[in-house]
Amino acid sequence: MKPVIVLLAIFFLISILRKRSKPLRKPRPGSDEARPKRDGEEMVFDTVCNSYIPVSSAISLKVDGELEYFCSEECREKFRQGKA
Ligand SMILES: [Zn+2]
Repeated sequence: MKPVIVLLAIFFLISILRKRSKPLRKPRPGSDEARPKRDGEEMVFDTVCNSYIPVSSAISLKVDGELEYFCSEECREKFRQGKA
């Protein structure tokens, strides 16, 4: 096989692997993944006031190992009090 063909094959395989390895888990606050995206930003649901907010401006709280999102600290406190 010609080296060029081998390189093209490797590049093709890498591009397939990259498409497959998109993160399925929710981004952690403070990590690079949690930084705001310019387009196609993930929307999260605030169960306290029943509204959707962009994940970049949402306030998160870890509940039973899963992240809950809120539009404001006020909603987060309401959720905490409701849980307690
Ligand atoms: Zn809210």
